[in-house]
Formats: sequence, C-alpha cells, structure tokens
Amino acid sequence: MNQKLIEKADYLLSRESGTVFKDPGGKIRIALVYPNGYSVGMSSLGFQGIYGLLNGLQDVVCERVFLPDREDIAEYERTRTELFSLESKRTLARFDIIAFSVSFENDYPNILKMLDLSRIPLRSSERADSQPLVMMGGVCAFFNPEPLAEFFDLFFVGEAEEMLPEFLSVYRQASTREELLETALRIEGIYIPGFYDVAYDGERGEIVSRRPLGNAPDKITKRTVSDISVNPMKTVITTPEAEFSDMYLIEAMRGCLWSCRFCLAGRIYKPARKKELEVLKGEIEEARSRTHRVGLIGPSLTDYPHAEEVLSIEGVDFSITSLRASKKSGSLVALLQGHKSVSIAPEAGTQRLRNVINKKISEEDILQTARMILEGGIETLRLYFMIGLPTETREDIEGIIELVKKIREETRRGFISLSVSTFVPKPFTPFQWHPMESLKEVKERLKIIMKGLGPSKGVKVFHDVPKYAYQQGVFALGDRRVSRLIERAAFGILPEGTAVDDKFYVFRRKGLDEILPWDFIDTGVPKETLWEEYLKAVAP
Ligand code: SF4
Repeated sequence: MNQKLIEKADYLLSRESGTVFKDPGGKIRIALVYPNGYSVGMSSLGFQGIYGLLNGLQDVVCERVFLPDREDIAEYERTRTELFSLESKRTLARFDIIAFSVSFENDYPNILKMLDLSRIPLRSSERADSQPLVMMGGVCAFFNPEPLAEFFDLFFVGEAEEMLPEFLSVYRQASTREELLETALRIEGIYIPGFYDVAYDGERGEIVSRRPLGNAPDKITKRTVSDISVNPMKTVITTPEAEFSDMYLIEAMRGCLWSCRFCLAGRIYKPARKKELEVLKGEIEEARSRTHRVGLIGPSLTDYPHAEEVLSIEGVDFSITSLRASKKSGSLVALLQGHKSVSIAPEAGTQRLRNVINKKISEEDILQTARMILEGGIETLRLYFMIGLPTETREDIEGIIELVKKIREETRRGFISLSVSTFVPKPFTPFQWHPMESLKEVKERLKIIMKGLGPSKGVKVFHDVPKYAYQQGVFALGDRRVSRLIERAAFGILPEGTAVDDKFYVFRRKGLDEILPWDFIDTGVPKETLWEEYLKAVAP
C-alpha cells in the first residue's frame, strides 16, 4: 500500500476527536462513503449521524471513505493502489457493504470514480455476489435515484434512521444475495432498481411504462421518522480539517413550515419536526465537552420555537445556516452579535417573482432584517438570489440590483455578499415540469447583475457556474439513460452505442400526463396537487 497515501490518512485521523475504532472480527463491515472531499463530508450531519448509528450496533464496524483530492487520485492511479478506508486502511473491495451517502447531484460522477479506483465493476449487473453490496442513501436517494439505478444494488428512499437497522436485520439472516434482495423488498422505503423494467417511447423519448418484476411493489413509500428527538442524528467526530472547523452540528428542526415552490428541502422533508428543547439542551451540553462551536441545523431556524432561549446559552459560539427575513428574526439577530456573517435568502428581486415562487416575505421584511444585521455589528450580510426562475424577466433581474442598492444605501456598515445561483427545477416541487432557462440567457442575466452592482463599495457578487447548474438539472431530472452521461462526466467518454440528449431532460416543458422518472416514489402529496400549484404559479 502506498506510504504517502497512508500518511495522509493518518494525519487526518490524528486531527480528529471521537473517531471509532472497532475490531472487525465477526462483524458486518460497512464502508460509509462520501463522494466528495473529506472536509465537505465531515461537515455533513447526515453522514456523521449514520457513522454513529452504524457503529452503535454491536455486530457492525463502519469506516469512512472520502473522495481523494486530485493529486491523491493521480497517486492512487500511478501506484495502482486501491481506494481504502481511513480507520483501518481496508480496501473497499474487502468490505461486506459499501454505503454511499449522497447529498448533491454533481457528486454522481465521483461515485463512479470511487468505484473505479476500488476496481469494483460500476454496474450492479456486472458485480459478482462475492463482491460488496453497493447501496445509497442521502437526500439524492429520496427524490430521484433513477440516473444511478444501474450502479446500485439498492437505495434507501427517505430518512434512514429506522430503515437501516431494519435492513441489517434482514442482512444478518439472508444466506444469499438473492434471498437478501427478495426479503428487503418488503421493507418500506427500500428500492431495488433491478426489480423494475422501464420502457421508453422510441421517437419521443418519454417513459411509456414501468413494470415491477416478481414481488416488487409498484410504488416505494418515502420513509419519514416521526420524532427527531428520539435517537437524534449526532456529530461523532470533530476536526479542524472539516469545512466547519471543529464545529459540533446539532439538528434543531427537520422539514420546513413554508412551501417555497422551487425548494426541494421544503417538500421532501415534510412534515416539519422540531427537536424537544430538553433534548437539544442535552446535546449542547455534550457538545461543550468537545468544542465551543455549535452549528444549529434546520431549514428555517427562525421558526424553531425555542431559538431565542437556545442562542442565549452562554459559553457557546453558535452558528446558524440562514435566517428568515421577518420581524421574528430581530431578537435572534441581537443574539448573534459578534458573528462574522448571517444569511438571508430573498431569492428574487421583485415582489411579483417572490409571489410566483411562494416566498412569503416582503421587501420591507428584507430591508428591515438586512438593516438589523448590518447595524447590529455583524460583519457580512449574505444574500441569496436565484436567476432563471419561472416567469422571470429582465425587470426581475433589475429588481435584484435595486434591492441590493437599497440595502446598501440604508446602511454603510459591514459588507454585503451576494450569492447568485441558477434555478434548477427539482422533483416533487411544483416546478418539476418547468424547463430551465437557456445557458445563453442565464449568462446574459448574470452579466447584467455583475454590471449593475460592480464595483459597488461594500458589495461582492459570487455566482455558480451555469454549466454545472445545467448538469445538476440533467442528473436531478434524469431517467436511467442518464447513467451514460454520468459516466461521460466521470471519465470523459460516452460509452459506445449511446446517444443521450441531455437537453431532453431540462429544456422541455413537461405535461401532467407524462410519466416522470421519480413518479414511483410516494411522498404523500398527489401529483395533481403539485400541478395545480404549478399552474397557479405561472398563471399570467
Ligand atoms: S426555501 Fe427555505 S423557507 Fe422556503 S421552503 Fe425551502 S427551506 Fe423552507
């Protein structure tokens, strides 16, 4: 094994507190894989929570694997070293199960690169039963696993806290892979793509049928845990090498009370659940024995009923993801004094467009919250906007510029950092039928914003790369044929005999009757309800 790569892994381990080392003898060996770098993966509460959950089981040993950086990938390839886990340096092929935790569509090509570095055949149909079972969880498995269907043996559709132990009890009892998969079909939320046949219309390209085979259920019901205060997902390891350096992450809320029409998180994690105050306080106490930095996780923490009481706890340096622009946030801003930055997300520059996307905040809410943040001595106000939203016009783009200028004119204190991302329609949102704006137009609109605001004193504009937003769209909205495009993104070549039109997935307005690749997942919200909301949004 390559010494340089081992030393690097040992260095990361030496910086950690809380790492679990277990004797693998007689245990189920699970490699928990994050298809991006160490610092990103270690800042994911979901990833950490699953690491804790699995290692909490007596007969399981779970070790972590991350995507090596570019230089290390070259070293792996040059020395023909197989990808190995951090804790025991066991190669992936020597685990019983490889469990990927996937949060971002643009990480899909990394999954293939990691399997390739492990000398594990990419497609489940090409793997022998003696090779590890390859499975996937994380938010990307909740909403549309289809583009990855050929690569995985099974997916966890929904929150895994209960499903994972249920699956492992089946795993313990099954004597063959076939028996395991057959039995796992009965667990709610488990999706085994090999049990389904999908047919496409040869000319139009749309899905014409989706047929379950054998005992496979027609629909997969997304799993949701009822109470996040019971067995909470916890930070296990803290390290200065994580993106949120030495921060202990604690989940305060899961799901959101609001229903912004573009937002996947707001839909897929429904219903909104709050952690009990006493449980949260207990976790903060636990965190304090390790670090003074605590990151509170939740989609809209302004709505957490005990936010004020929690943020008033002394001796803890709290960090929160984002505040809702509303009067309610005033008292929270006061408690965040001394913080480097606080974010709010107006998303759109005009009231008209904010109504279209159902972002229920007014211009006055935005101006007032922005003023409180900057006047309150917080160094940077981060503002999040999207471009390319349904019905957006140049007037809405001008609206972003005017709104930011207004905030800047109202106070000269601090900095404004503007983050502009390209709208990507997501499954299970009312905009799932809507096409993306063309790349040319998105770039044009970005130029207008850059020109309109720069160089304004105290304002900095950051934006995503539209090309990657477009890739994200193809992977989010794709069907099984998109697997070829993921391979192309991973290795630079399109597999032979395949011609997949990526525009088909993102630049076409779809209809209610079309079978969408993710229609087989039951989230509890009928498609017709989303469609009505879509029509309401885009009505002139
Ligand atoms: S954008 Fe924020 S407030 Fe709106 S639904 Fe999503 S998480 Fe909730």
